[in-house]
Amino acid sequence: MGNAYEIYALRYATMSPRTPHMNFLLPDPHDTAAADLDYFVWLIRGHGRDVLVDTGFNAEEASLRSRKLTLNPVDALAAFGVAAADIWDVVVTHLHYDHAGNLDRFPNARFHLQEREMSYATGRCMCTGLLRHPFSVEHVTQMVRHVYGERVTFHSGEGKIADGITVHRVGGHSDGLQVVRVETARGPVVLASDAAHYYANLQRRSPFPIVYNVGDMAVAWETVERLAGHPDRYIPGHDPIVAEIYPRASDKVDAFALHKAPSRSFVK
Ligand SMILES: [Zn+2]
Ligand SMILES: [Zn+2]
Repeated sequence: MGNAYEIYALRYATMSPRTPHMNFLLPDPHDTAAADLDYFVWLIRGHGRDVLVDTGFNAEEASLRSRKLTLNPVDALAAFGVAAADIWDVVVTHLHYDHAGNLDRFPNARFHLQEREMSYATGRCMCTGLLRHPFSVEHVTQMVRHVYGERVTFHSGEGKIADGITVHRVGGHSDGLQVVRVETARGPVVLASDAAHYYANLQRRSPFPIVYNVGDMAVAWETVERLAGHPDRYIPGHDPIVAEIYPRASDKVDAFALHKAPSRSFVK
């Protein structure tokens, strides 16, 4: 395949324990246990370029929200052999605190963002605590600085990062959420980010409780499935199953090779 890339999920934090109500808007009443929530950034490699998808959060943000940070994603990248200064393109799937921190740590990067996410994160919905809660004003302000510094490429709907790497606005979870489709040797892989925190959110059509528009989220699940073309080729944003079924790619950090076949299939 002409545009085959490698994709690595780098896990930088985990939140545990959780209850079913934290993972599903309407959990199955028979569920008593709930999966942990893993936090990832994703590195796309190939054709002489490294594209980072999301930038995670830092220690300061972790302590503000009582989250446990294993290591800063910038340090995880370094341990994986990639210097932040060598990242030229960063796709920010959305501006929630766990996807859009560390924006000041990539001195040479261009940031790819949906136009609607910037509007949403700086508009009237942010006057409501429920909708504002997943955002950090420091992160959003840093992105505004990048806008003023002419370092942001805005996408409206579909956009191309490079041959074989495209972004697609799906909304739902956040109004300007975008997913990333990447060509790999095993076919197109879709980084669904928070369109599906867990495989189960998408498979059961059961939303994660943080949602701006449930209707858009339902359409997003269809879009993710269509873009991937196979149930083993979309990657949820926070599911610990990802680390279980994809091969480890480093002995220094929690990195998992998403361009390789998973050890378990979701084909029924
Ligand atoms: Zn989110
Ligand atoms: Zn998230």
